[in-house]
Amino acid sequence: MNANDTEFVPQPRPSKKERMKLPRQHMPEQDPARRRENFEEVNQGLTVLGAAAEAARCIECGDPKCMRGCPVGVKVREFVELIVAGDVLGAAAKIREDNILPAVTGRVCPQETQCEGCCILGNKFEPLGIGYLERFVADYERRHGQVGLPEIAPPTGKKVAIVGSGPAGLSAAGDLIRMGHAVTVFEALHEIGGVLVYGIPEFRLPKAIVRHEVDAMRAMGVDFQTNVVIGRTATIDDLMTEEGYDAVFVATGAGLPKFLDVPGEHLNGVYSANEFLTRVNLMRADAFPESDEPVYDCRGKDVAVVGGGNTAMDAVRTACRLGARTSYLVYRRSETEMPARAEELKHAKEEGVTLMCLTNPVEFHGDADGFVSRMRCVRMELGEPDASGRRSPVVVPGSEFDTPIQMAVIALGTSANPLVQSTTPDLATTRKGYIAADPETLRTSKRGVFAGGDIVTGGATVILAMGAGRKAAASIHEYLTTDAWAEVGEA
Ligand code: FAD
Ligand code: SF4
Repeated sequence: MNANDTEFVPQPRPSKKERMKLPRQHMPEQDPARRRENFEEVNQGLTVLGAAAEAARCIECGDPKCMRGCPVGVKVREFVELIVAGDVLGAAAKIREDNILPAVTGRVCPQETQCEGCCILGNKFEPLGIGYLERFVADYERRHGQVGLPEIAPPTGKKVAIVGSGPAGLSAAGDLIRMGHAVTVFEALHEIGGVLVYGIPEFRLPKAIVRHEVDAMRAMGVDFQTNVVIGRTATIDDLMTEEGYDAVFVATGAGLPKFLDVPGEHLNGVYSANEFLTRVNLMRADAFPESDEPVYDCRGKDVAVVGGGNTAMDAVRTACRLGARTSYLVYRRSETEMPARAEELKHAKEEGVTLMCLTNPVEFHGDADGFVSRMRCVRMELGEPDASGRRSPVVVPGSEFDTPIQMAVIALGTSANPLVQSTTPDLATTRKGYIAADPETLRTSKRGVFAGGDIVTGGATVILAMGAGRKAAASIHEYLTTDAWAEVGEA
Protein backbone atom coordinates (compact mmCIF):
# COMPACT_ATOMS: atom_id res chain seq x y z
CA MET A 1 0.00 0.00 0.00
CA ASN A 2 1.26 3.47 -0.77
CA ALA A 3 0.93 5.28 2.53
CA ASN A 4 0.04 8.42 0.64
CA ASP A 5 -3.43 6.98 1.13
CA THR A 6 -3.20 7.43 4.90
CA GLU A 7 -3.13 10.58 7.01
CA PHE A 8 0.24 12.18 7.68
CA VAL A 9 1.44 11.97 11.28
CA PRO A 10 4.41 14.18 12.29
CA GLN A 11 7.37 12.28 13.79
CA PRO A 12 9.62 13.29 16.71
CA ARG A 13 12.73 15.09 15.40
CA PRO A 14 16.29 14.23 16.51
CA SER A 15 18.97 16.85 17.20
CA LYS A 16 20.68 18.47 14.20
CA LYS A 17 23.83 16.43 14.81
CA GLU A 18 21.88 13.17 14.87
CA ARG A 19 19.87 14.18 11.80
CA MET A 20 23.01 14.35 9.70
CA LYS A 21 23.60 10.66 10.27
CA LEU A 22 20.06 9.61 9.29
CA PRO A 23 20.13 7.63 6.03
CA ARG A 24 18.32 9.05 3.02
CA GLN A 25 14.99 7.31 2.48
CA HIS A 26 14.88 4.84 -0.36
CA MET A 27 12.31 5.41 -3.13
CA PRO A 28 10.07 2.31 -3.33
CA GLU A 29 10.19 0.93 -6.88
CA GLN A 30 8.40 -1.71 -8.93
CA ASP A 31 10.49 -4.85 -9.24
CA PRO A 32 12.55 -4.72 -12.50
CA ALA A 33 11.36 -8.13 -13.77
CA ARG A 34 7.73 -7.11 -13.32
CA ARG A 35 8.00 -3.53 -14.50
CA ARG A 36 9.62 -4.34 -17.82
CA GLU A 37 6.32 -6.04 -18.66
CA ASN A 38 4.12 -3.04 -17.89
CA PHE A 39 3.88 0.73 -18.36
CA GLU A 40 2.95 1.51 -14.76
CA GLU A 41 5.05 4.00 -12.86
CA VAL A 42 8.43 2.62 -11.75
CA ASN A 43 8.90 4.87 -8.70
CA GLN A 44 6.10 4.33 -6.24
CA GLY A 45 6.51 7.42 -4.05
CA LEU A 46 7.55 7.71 -0.40
CA THR A 47 5.21 6.35 2.22
CA VAL A 48 3.87 8.72 4.87
CA LEU A 49 6.44 7.39 7.32
CA GLY A 50 9.20 7.62 4.71
CA ALA A 51 8.32 11.24 3.93
CA ALA A 52 8.25 12.15 7.62
CA ALA A 53 11.64 10.50 8.13
CA GLU A 54 13.13 12.18 5.06
CA ALA A 55 11.81 15.65 5.97
CA ALA A 56 13.27 15.20 9.46
CA ARG A 57 16.76 14.98 7.88
CA CYS A 58 16.71 18.69 6.90
CA ILE A 59 19.25 20.51 9.06
CA GLU A 60 17.53 23.91 8.66
CA CYS A 61 20.47 25.84 7.18
CA GLY A 62 20.47 29.58 7.80
CA ASP A 63 21.33 30.12 4.14
CA PRO A 64 19.54 27.30 2.27
CA LYS A 65 21.59 26.79 -0.88
CA CYS A 66 19.05 24.26 -2.22
CA MET A 67 16.73 27.16 -3.04
CA ARG A 68 19.40 28.79 -5.19
CA GLY A 69 19.91 25.50 -7.00
CA CYS A 70 16.26 25.45 -8.08
CA PRO A 71 15.73 27.38 -11.33
CA VAL A 72 12.41 28.78 -10.05
CA GLY A 73 13.51 29.28 -6.43
CA VAL A 74 11.09 26.86 -4.71
CA LYS A 75 11.23 27.67 -0.97
CA VAL A 76 12.60 24.26 -0.08
CA ARG A 77 13.42 24.89 3.55
CA GLU A 78 10.00 26.37 4.25
CA PHE A 79 8.04 23.59 2.58
CA VAL A 80 10.12 20.91 4.31
CA GLU A 81 9.50 22.60 7.66
CA LEU A 82 5.75 22.50 6.98
CA ILE A 83 6.00 18.75 6.35
CA VAL A 84 7.88 18.31 9.61
CA ALA A 85 5.12 20.23 11.38
CA GLY A 86 2.53 17.90 9.83
CA ASP A 87 1.02 20.53 7.50
CA VAL A 88 1.42 18.70 4.18
CA LEU A 89 -1.26 20.75 2.42
CA GLY A 90 0.46 23.93 3.63
CA ALA A 91 3.69 22.55 2.18
CA ALA A 92 1.93 22.02 -1.16
CA ALA A 93 0.65 25.60 -1.14
CA LYS A 94 4.16 26.83 -0.35
CA ILE A 95 5.65 24.98 -3.34
CA ARG A 96 2.86 26.22 -5.62
CA GLU A 97 3.87 29.83 -4.90
CA ASP A 98 6.80 29.21 -7.27
CA ASN A 99 6.03 25.99 -9.11
CA ILE A 100 2.57 25.12 -10.45
CA LEU A 101 3.44 21.53 -11.41
CA PRO A 102 5.10 20.01 -8.32
CA ALA A 103 3.83 16.48 -9.04
CA VAL A 104 5.61 16.73 -12.40
CA THR A 105 8.87 18.35 -11.28
CA GLY A 106 9.10 16.09 -8.21
CA ARG A 107 9.26 13.23 -10.72
CA VAL A 108 11.30 14.55 -13.63
CA CYS A 109 13.55 17.40 -12.46
CA PRO A 110 17.26 16.54 -12.57
CA GLN A 111 17.43 17.27 -8.83
CA GLU A 112 20.95 15.86 -8.50
CA THR A 113 22.30 18.86 -10.43
CA GLN A 114 19.77 21.41 -9.16
CA CYS A 115 18.26 21.71 -5.66
CA GLU A 116 19.77 18.49 -4.24
CA GLY A 117 23.10 19.22 -5.92
CA CYS A 118 23.36 22.33 -3.71
CA CYS A 119 22.19 20.71 -0.44
CA ILE A 120 24.84 21.09 2.27
CA LEU A 121 24.14 17.58 3.58
CA GLY A 122 25.46 16.28 0.26
CA ASN A 123 28.98 17.54 1.06
CA LYS A 124 29.50 14.78 3.62
CA PHE A 125 26.37 12.64 3.54
CA GLU A 126 23.54 12.05 1.10
CA PRO A 127 21.58 15.19 0.10
CA LEU A 128 18.02 15.68 1.30
CA GLY A 129 15.54 13.93 -1.02
CA ILE A 130 13.93 17.22 -2.12
CA GLY A 131 12.42 15.76 -5.29
CA TYR A 132 10.98 12.81 -3.36
CA LEU A 133 9.41 15.19 -0.83
CA GLU A 134 8.05 17.52 -3.51
CA ARG A 135 6.44 14.57 -5.24
CA PHE A 136 5.06 13.24 -1.94
CA VAL A 137 3.47 16.57 -1.05
CA ALA A 138 1.90 17.02 -4.50
CA ASP A 139 0.55 13.45 -4.58
CA TYR A 140 -0.81 13.79 -1.05
CA GLU A 141 -2.57 17.01 -2.03
CA ARG A 142 -4.07 15.38 -5.13
CA ARG A 143 -5.19 12.22 -3.33
CA HIS A 144 -6.82 14.19 -0.57
CA GLY A 145 -8.74 16.25 -3.11
CA GLN A 146 -7.51 19.51 -1.74
CA VAL A 147 -6.11 21.34 -4.76
CA GLY A 148 -7.85 24.66 -4.17
CA LEU A 149 -8.29 27.10 -7.05
CA PRO A 150 -6.25 30.26 -6.60
CA GLU A 151 -7.82 33.70 -6.53
CA ILE A 152 -8.46 35.20 -9.96
CA ALA A 153 -8.15 38.98 -10.47
CA PRO A 154 -11.13 40.83 -12.01
CA PRO A 155 -11.21 40.62 -15.85
CA THR A 156 -8.85 43.06 -17.57
CA GLY A 157 -10.58 42.77 -20.95
CA LYS A 158 -7.26 41.70 -22.55
CA LYS A 159 -6.87 38.49 -24.57
CA VAL A 160 -3.67 36.43 -24.67
CA ALA A 161 -2.96 33.55 -27.08
CA ILE A 162 -0.44 30.89 -26.05
CA VAL A 163 0.95 28.69 -28.80
CA GLY A 164 2.01 25.30 -27.43
CA SER A 165 0.83 23.53 -24.28
CA GLY A 166 4.10 22.21 -22.85
CA PRO A 167 5.39 23.29 -19.43
CA ALA A 168 6.27 26.80 -20.72
CA GLY A 169 2.79 27.39 -22.17
CA LEU A 170 1.02 25.87 -19.17
CA SER A 171 2.86 27.87 -16.55
CA ALA A 172 2.32 31.12 -18.50
CA ALA A 173 -1.38 30.27 -18.83
CA GLY A 174 -1.69 29.58 -15.08
CA ASP A 175 -0.19 32.95 -14.15
CA LEU A 176 -1.96 35.04 -16.82
CA ILE A 177 -5.42 33.71 -15.97
CA ARG A 178 -4.84 34.62 -12.32
CA MET A 179 -3.96 38.17 -13.40
CA GLY A 180 -7.43 38.49 -14.96
CA HIS A 181 -6.57 38.12 -18.66
CA ALA A 182 -8.55 35.86 -21.01
CA VAL A 183 -6.19 33.04 -22.04
CA THR A 184 -6.47 30.61 -24.95
CA VAL A 185 -3.87 27.87 -25.43
CA PHE A 186 -3.53 26.53 -28.99
CA GLU A 187 -2.03 23.03 -29.25
CA ALA A 188 -1.20 21.20 -32.48
CA LEU A 189 -1.67 17.72 -30.95
CA HIS A 190 -4.89 16.21 -29.62
CA GLU A 191 -3.66 16.17 -26.02
CA ILE A 192 -2.48 19.03 -23.80
CA GLY A 193 0.94 18.87 -22.11
CA GLY A 194 3.69 18.96 -24.76
CA VAL A 195 6.62 16.66 -23.98
CA LEU A 196 5.03 15.84 -20.61
CA VAL A 197 2.45 13.75 -22.46
CA TYR A 198 3.90 12.95 -25.88
CA GLY A 199 7.57 12.43 -24.88
CA ILE A 200 8.01 11.30 -21.28
CA PRO A 201 6.54 7.79 -20.94
CA GLU A 202 3.79 6.75 -18.56
CA PHE A 203 6.25 4.69 -16.47
CA ARG A 204 8.08 7.91 -15.48
CA LEU A 205 5.23 10.42 -15.50
CA PRO A 206 1.65 9.13 -15.55
CA LYS A 207 -0.50 11.19 -17.90
CA ALA A 208 -3.29 11.34 -15.30
CA ILE A 209 -1.06 13.69 -13.28
CA VAL A 210 -0.71 16.14 -16.16
CA ARG A 211 -4.44 15.87 -16.96
CA HIS A 212 -5.27 16.66 -13.35
CA GLU A 213 -3.26 19.90 -13.52
CA VAL A 214 -4.75 20.80 -16.92
CA ASP A 215 -8.27 20.24 -15.54
CA ALA A 216 -7.48 22.62 -12.66
CA MET A 217 -6.45 25.28 -15.20
CA ARG A 218 -9.61 24.67 -17.20
CA ALA A 219 -11.61 25.21 -14.00
CA MET A 220 -9.74 28.51 -13.56
CA GLY A 221 -10.97 29.56 -17.01
CA VAL A 222 -8.10 28.74 -19.40
CA ASP A 223 -9.49 27.85 -22.85
CA PHE A 224 -7.59 24.93 -24.42
CA GLN A 225 -7.90 24.43 -28.19
CA THR A 226 -6.38 21.18 -29.44
CA ASN A 227 -5.62 20.11 -33.03
CA VAL A 228 -4.85 23.73 -33.97
CA VAL A 229 -1.54 24.16 -35.77
CA ILE A 230 -0.52 27.81 -35.64
CA GLY A 231 1.11 28.61 -38.96
CA ARG A 232 -1.40 26.37 -40.76
CA THR A 233 -4.86 26.77 -39.19
CA ALA A 234 -4.12 30.44 -38.43
CA THR A 235 -0.94 32.54 -38.35
CA ILE A 236 0.33 34.71 -35.51
CA ASP A 237 -0.78 37.75 -37.55
CA ASP A 238 -4.30 36.26 -37.89
CA LEU A 239 -4.45 35.83 -34.11
CA MET A 240 -3.44 39.46 -33.51
CA THR A 241 -5.56 41.09 -36.19
CA GLU A 242 -8.61 38.97 -37.10
CA GLU A 243 -8.99 37.26 -33.71
CA GLY A 244 -8.15 40.30 -31.59
CA TYR A 245 -5.47 38.86 -29.28
CA ASP A 246 -3.55 41.61 -27.50
CA ALA A 247 -0.44 39.47 -26.94
CA VAL A 248 0.91 36.09 -28.04
CA PHE A 249 3.32 33.80 -26.17
CA VAL A 250 5.06 31.33 -28.48
CA ALA A 251 6.05 28.17 -26.58
CA THR A 252 6.29 25.66 -29.41
CA GLY A 253 9.27 23.70 -28.08
CA ALA A 254 12.11 22.01 -29.91
CA GLY A 255 10.48 18.93 -31.37
CA LEU A 256 12.21 18.63 -34.75
CA PRO A 257 14.25 15.42 -34.64
CA LYS A 258 17.93 15.21 -35.62
CA PHE A 259 19.15 12.22 -37.61
CA LEU A 260 22.50 10.45 -38.05
CA ASP A 261 22.46 11.19 -41.78
CA VAL A 262 23.77 7.74 -42.70
CA PRO A 263 22.65 5.38 -45.49
CA GLY A 264 19.56 3.29 -44.71
CA GLU A 265 18.01 5.70 -42.21
CA HIS A 266 14.89 5.88 -44.45
CA LEU A 267 14.20 2.11 -44.11
CA ASN A 268 10.95 0.87 -42.58
CA GLY A 269 11.39 0.25 -38.87
CA VAL A 270 13.76 3.20 -38.35
CA TYR A 271 12.05 5.89 -36.26
CA SER A 272 13.02 9.20 -34.72
CA ALA A 273 12.61 9.02 -30.93
CA ASN A 274 9.95 11.74 -31.09
CA GLU A 275 7.83 9.80 -33.55
CA PHE A 276 8.32 6.51 -31.69
CA LEU A 277 7.50 7.95 -28.27
CA THR A 278 4.55 10.00 -29.55
CA ARG A 279 3.06 6.93 -31.22
CA VAL A 280 3.43 4.88 -28.05
CA ASN A 281 2.40 7.59 -25.59
CA LEU A 282 -0.45 9.27 -27.44
CA MET A 283 -1.68 6.54 -29.78
CA ARG A 284 -1.86 3.79 -27.18
CA ALA A 285 0.81 1.40 -28.49
CA ASP A 286 1.48 0.87 -24.77
CA ALA A 287 -1.91 -0.91 -24.56
CA PHE A 288 -1.19 -3.36 -27.41
CA PRO A 289 -2.72 -5.92 -28.13
CA GLU A 290 -5.95 -4.45 -26.66
CA SER A 291 -5.46 -1.38 -28.87
CA ASP A 292 -4.15 -1.32 -32.44
CA GLU A 293 -0.42 -0.79 -32.36
CA PRO A 294 0.71 2.27 -34.29
CA VAL A 295 4.39 1.25 -34.22
CA TYR A 296 6.15 -1.68 -35.78
CA ASP A 297 5.49 -4.77 -33.62
CA CYS A 298 8.83 -5.31 -31.87
CA ARG A 299 7.81 -8.29 -29.71
CA GLY A 300 10.64 -10.80 -29.82
CA LYS A 301 12.74 -8.47 -32.02
CA ASP A 302 16.11 -6.77 -31.58
CA VAL A 303 15.82 -3.00 -31.23
CA ALA A 304 18.67 -0.47 -31.30
CA VAL A 305 18.18 2.98 -29.78
CA VAL A 306 20.92 5.43 -30.75
CA GLY A 307 21.82 8.15 -28.23
CA GLY A 308 22.73 8.61 -24.57
CA GLY A 309 20.32 11.23 -23.22
CA ASN A 310 17.02 11.00 -21.35
CA THR A 311 15.10 10.66 -24.60
CA ALA A 312 17.23 7.67 -25.61
CA MET A 313 16.63 6.12 -22.16
CA ASP A 314 12.89 6.66 -22.47
CA ALA A 315 12.88 5.09 -25.93
CA VAL A 316 14.98 2.05 -25.02
CA ARG A 317 12.98 1.36 -21.86
CA THR A 318 9.79 1.71 -23.91
CA ALA A 319 11.11 -0.84 -26.42
CA CYS A 320 11.75 -3.24 -23.49
CA ARG A 321 8.15 -2.85 -22.39
CA LEU A 322 6.82 -3.41 -25.90
CA GLY A 323 8.43 -6.87 -25.72
CA ALA A 324 11.75 -6.44 -27.56
CA ARG A 325 14.02 -9.50 -27.25
CA THR A 326 17.12 -7.30 -27.05
CA SER A 327 17.09 -3.56 -26.44
CA TYR A 328 20.46 -2.06 -27.36
CA LEU A 329 21.46 1.43 -26.28
CA VAL A 330 24.08 2.51 -28.80
CA TYR A 331 26.19 5.44 -27.61
CA ARG A 332 29.35 6.84 -29.14
CA ARG A 333 31.03 7.87 -25.88
CA SER A 334 31.46 5.86 -22.65
CA GLU A 335 28.94 5.41 -19.84
CA THR A 336 30.65 8.18 -17.83
CA GLU A 337 29.85 10.81 -20.48
CA MET A 338 26.19 9.82 -20.89
CA PRO A 339 24.01 12.91 -20.43
CA ALA A 340 21.04 10.87 -19.16
CA ARG A 341 20.18 11.05 -15.46
CA ALA A 342 21.99 8.47 -13.35
CA GLU A 343 18.64 7.10 -12.15
CA GLU A 344 17.48 6.51 -15.73
CA LEU A 345 20.65 4.61 -16.58
CA LYS A 346 20.35 2.51 -13.43
CA HIS A 347 16.71 1.70 -14.17
CA ALA A 348 17.51 0.87 -17.79
CA LYS A 349 20.25 -1.57 -16.77
CA GLU A 350 18.01 -3.21 -14.19
CA GLU A 351 15.39 -3.70 -16.89
CA GLY A 352 17.87 -5.58 -19.07
CA VAL A 353 18.94 -2.91 -21.57
CA THR A 354 22.18 -3.91 -23.33
CA LEU A 355 24.66 -1.02 -23.46
CA MET A 356 26.74 -0.67 -26.62
CA CYS A 357 29.03 2.19 -25.58
CA LEU A 358 31.89 3.63 -27.68
CA THR A 359 29.92 2.50 -30.72
CA ASN A 360 28.43 4.48 -33.60
CA PRO A 361 26.12 3.27 -36.40
CA VAL A 362 27.39 4.14 -39.89
CA GLU A 363 24.79 2.37 -42.04
CA PHE A 364 21.49 0.49 -41.81
CA HIS A 365 20.78 -2.42 -44.16
CA GLY A 366 17.33 -3.63 -45.13
CA ASP A 367 15.64 -6.86 -46.25
CA ALA A 368 13.87 -7.43 -49.59
CA ASP A 369 10.71 -5.74 -48.25
CA GLY A 370 12.54 -2.55 -47.25
CA PHE A 371 12.58 -3.27 -43.49
CA VAL A 372 15.74 -2.65 -41.49
CA SER A 373 17.55 -5.93 -40.79
CA ARG A 374 21.11 -5.02 -39.81
CA MET A 375 23.09 -2.15 -38.36
CA ARG A 376 26.72 -1.54 -39.32
CA CYS A 377 28.68 0.14 -36.55
CA VAL A 378 32.21 1.34 -35.87
CA ARG A 379 33.98 1.25 -32.53
CA MET A 380 35.00 4.57 -31.03
CA GLU A 381 37.66 5.72 -28.57
CA LEU A 382 37.81 8.93 -26.58
CA GLY A 383 40.08 11.74 -27.75
CA GLU A 384 40.56 15.32 -26.56
CA PRO A 385 37.71 17.21 -24.82
CA ASP A 386 35.40 19.08 -27.23
CA ALA A 387 33.44 22.34 -26.77
CA SER A 388 31.07 20.58 -24.32
CA GLY A 389 34.05 19.64 -22.13
CA ARG A 390 33.46 15.94 -22.75
CA ARG A 391 36.14 13.85 -24.44
CA SER A 392 35.25 13.62 -28.11
CA PRO A 393 34.70 10.21 -29.72
CA VAL A 394 37.14 9.18 -32.45
CA VAL A 395 36.58 6.28 -34.88
CA VAL A 396 38.82 3.24 -34.40
CA PRO A 397 40.04 2.46 -37.95
CA GLY A 398 38.98 -0.94 -39.35
CA SER A 399 36.57 -1.62 -36.48
CA GLU A 400 33.34 -2.07 -38.49
CA PHE A 401 30.98 -4.80 -37.34
CA ASP A 402 27.36 -5.76 -38.03
CA THR A 403 24.53 -6.40 -35.56
CA PRO A 404 21.18 -7.87 -36.65
CA ILE A 405 18.27 -5.58 -35.67
CA GLN A 406 14.66 -5.33 -36.79
CA MET A 407 13.95 -1.84 -35.49
CA ALA A 408 15.98 1.31 -34.74
CA VAL A 409 15.16 4.51 -32.92
CA ILE A 410 17.31 7.60 -33.43
CA ALA A 411 17.46 9.73 -30.27
CA LEU A 412 20.13 12.32 -31.02
CA GLY A 413 18.33 15.41 -29.80
CA THR A 414 16.04 17.87 -31.48
CA SER A 415 15.98 21.35 -32.93
CA ALA A 416 13.42 24.17 -33.18
CA ASN A 417 9.89 23.53 -34.45
CA PRO A 418 10.07 25.85 -37.50
CA LEU A 419 6.46 26.53 -38.53
CA VAL A 420 5.70 29.67 -36.53
CA GLN A 421 9.01 31.30 -37.54
CA SER A 422 8.50 30.54 -41.24
CA THR A 423 4.95 31.96 -41.26
CA THR A 424 5.68 35.10 -39.21
CA PRO A 425 7.90 37.24 -41.45
CA ASP A 426 8.88 39.88 -38.87
CA LEU A 427 9.86 37.40 -36.13
CA ALA A 428 13.66 37.37 -35.75
CA THR A 429 15.38 34.01 -35.31
CA THR A 430 18.82 32.87 -34.27
CA ARG A 431 21.35 31.26 -36.59
CA LYS A 432 20.04 27.83 -35.54
CA GLY A 433 16.40 28.74 -36.21
CA TYR A 434 15.26 29.35 -32.62
CA ILE A 435 13.18 32.44 -31.85
CA ALA A 436 15.29 35.39 -30.70
CA ALA A 437 13.87 36.73 -27.44
CA ASP A 438 15.20 39.10 -24.79
CA PRO A 439 16.41 36.87 -21.91
CA GLU A 440 14.79 39.08 -19.27
CA THR A 441 11.48 40.14 -20.85
CA LEU A 442 11.10 37.32 -23.43
CA ARG A 443 9.96 39.95 -25.95
CA THR A 444 10.64 39.09 -29.58
CA SER A 445 11.27 41.38 -32.54
CA LYS A 446 7.50 41.57 -33.14
CA ARG A 447 5.43 43.89 -30.96
CA GLY A 448 3.09 41.98 -28.66
CA VAL A 449 4.77 38.62 -29.31
CA PHE A 450 6.80 36.88 -26.60
CA ALA A 451 8.61 33.52 -26.76
CA GLY A 452 10.09 31.13 -24.21
CA GLY A 453 10.96 27.54 -23.30
CA ASP A 454 12.76 25.17 -25.67
CA ILE A 455 11.83 27.25 -28.75
CA VAL A 456 14.21 29.93 -27.44
CA THR A 457 16.82 27.95 -25.48
CA GLY A 458 16.89 24.71 -27.43
CA GLY A 459 16.11 21.40 -25.67
CA ALA A 460 16.45 22.04 -21.91
CA THR A 461 14.40 20.94 -18.88
CA VAL A 462 10.81 21.03 -17.70
CA ILE A 463 11.54 23.40 -14.83
CA LEU A 464 13.50 25.82 -17.02
CA ALA A 465 10.60 25.90 -19.48
CA MET A 466 8.20 26.53 -16.59
CA GLY A 467 10.46 29.34 -15.33
CA ALA A 468 10.34 30.90 -18.81
CA GLY A 469 6.53 30.64 -18.82
CA ARG A 470 6.31 32.52 -15.56
CA LYS A 471 8.75 35.18 -16.74
CA ALA A 472 6.73 35.60 -19.94
CA ALA A 473 3.48 35.95 -17.97
CA ALA A 474 4.94 38.75 -15.83
CA SER A 475 6.30 40.49 -18.90
CA ILE A 476 3.06 40.12 -20.88
CA HIS A 477 1.11 41.49 -17.91
CA GLU A 478 3.41 44.51 -17.81
CA TYR A 479 2.97 45.08 -21.55
CA LEU A 480 -0.81 44.75 -21.37
CA THR A 481 -1.11 47.14 -18.47
CA THR A 482 1.45 49.78 -19.61
CA ASP A 483 1.55 49.30 -23.40
CA ALA A 484 5.35 49.83 -23.16
CA TRP A 485 7.46 47.92 -25.68
CA ALA A 486 11.20 47.81 -26.35
CA GLU A 487 12.56 45.72 -29.20
CA VAL A 488 14.89 42.77 -28.61
CA GLY A 489 18.32 44.07 -27.75
CA GLU A 490 17.12 47.58 -26.79
CA ALA A 491 17.77 48.74 -23.25
P1 FAD B 1 7.26 21.34 -25.29
O1 FAD B 1 7.10 20.54 -24.06
O2 FAD B 1 8.00 20.74 -26.43
O3 FAD B 1 5.82 21.77 -25.79
C1 FAD B 1 5.64 22.45 -27.00
C2 FAD B 1 4.23 22.21 -27.49
O4 FAD B 1 3.96 23.07 -28.60
C3 FAD B 1 4.00 20.78 -28.00
O5 FAD B 1 2.86 20.23 -27.40
C4 FAD B 1 3.80 20.96 -29.51
O6 FAD B 1 2.90 20.01 -30.05
C5 FAD B 1 3.22 22.36 -29.57
N1 FAD B 1 3.41 23.02 -30.85
C6 FAD B 1 4.54 23.05 -31.61
N2 FAD B 1 4.33 23.76 -32.74
C7 FAD B 1 3.05 24.20 -32.68
C8 FAD B 1 2.25 24.99 -33.54
N3 FAD B 1 2.73 25.47 -34.70
N4 FAD B 1 0.95 25.23 -33.20
C9 FAD B 1 0.44 24.74 -32.02
N5 FAD B 1 1.17 23.99 -31.16
C10 FAD B 1 2.45 23.73 -31.49
N6 FAD B 1 13.19 17.48 -18.97
C11 FAD B 1 13.31 17.28 -17.63
O7 FAD B 1 13.41 18.25 -16.87
N7 FAD B 1 13.28 16.02 -17.11
C12 FAD B 1 13.11 14.92 -17.87
O8 FAD B 1 13.08 13.82 -17.35
C13 FAD B 1 12.95 15.10 -19.28
N8 FAD B 1 12.74 14.03 -20.08
C14 FAD B 1 12.52 14.24 -21.41
C15 FAD B 1 12.20 13.15 -22.21
C16 FAD B 1 11.93 13.32 -23.55
C17 FAD B 1 11.56 12.13 -24.39
C18 FAD B 1 12.03 14.63 -24.13
C19 FAD B 1 11.77 14.83 -25.61
C20 FAD B 1 12.36 15.72 -23.35
C21 FAD B 1 12.59 15.54 -21.98
N9 FAD B 1 12.88 16.62 -21.15
C22 FAD B 1 13.01 16.42 -19.80
C23 FAD B 1 12.94 18.00 -21.68
C24 FAD B 1 11.65 18.77 -21.40
O9 FAD B 1 10.53 17.94 -21.55
C25 FAD B 1 11.54 20.01 -22.29
O10 FAD B 1 12.67 20.82 -22.04
C26 FAD B 1 10.26 20.79 -22.01
O11 FAD B 1 9.11 19.99 -22.21
C27 FAD B 1 10.16 22.03 -22.90
O12 FAD B 1 8.93 22.66 -22.67
P2 FAD B 1 8.26 23.62 -23.74
O13 FAD B 1 6.98 24.05 -23.14
O14 FAD B 1 9.24 24.66 -24.16
O15 FAD B 1 8.01 22.73 -25.04
FE1 SF4 C 1 14.15 20.81 -6.99
FE2 SF4 C 1 12.85 20.88 -9.33
FE3 SF4 C 1 11.49 21.21 -7.04
FE4 SF4 C 1 13.14 23.13 -7.90
S1 SF4 C 1 11.26 22.44 -8.92
S2 SF4 C 1 13.00 22.34 -5.78
S3 SF4 C 1 14.81 21.91 -8.87
S4 SF4 C 1 12.59 19.34 -7.69
